[in-house]
Amino acid sequence: MIKGSKESFVKSVPSNEAVCTNCKTEGTMNYNLFYKYYHVFFIPVFPYSKSGTLECSACKEQLSPYKLSKATRNEYEKVKKGLWPPVWHFSGIALLAIIFYLVSLSEAEQAKTTRVILQSLR
Ligand SMILES: [Zn+2]
Repeated sequence: MIKGSKESFVKSVPSNEAVCTNCKTEGTMNYNLFYKYYHVFFIPVFPYSKSGTLECSACKEQLSPYKLSKATRNEYEKVKKGLWPPVWHFSGIALLAIIFYLVSLSEAEQAKTTRVILQSLR
């Protein structure tokens, strides 16, 4: 596959609401947050969607934030809203910007050279 989408782990945020349904320990749940991005030739172009799971640090149980209480769901939505994609997810755009810049530089350079030649011919 030369293009497609990939998911990368961004960060872990502790939850104040969720309680592990497996071991029932309080204050052990963390949101593991991910960002999906499009890539072309394995170069990330732009990020487009967020997702997350809840993981218990005590028993390692993985839960969906949507299968727990409403308070957890709200907390998850809030945490997700505050999540920013990592800068490297924009590598492709940055690369394109650099290419455009270099192309415009060389065009400006060519225009200058042409001007110099034309002036020397006068
Ligand atoms: Zn647990």
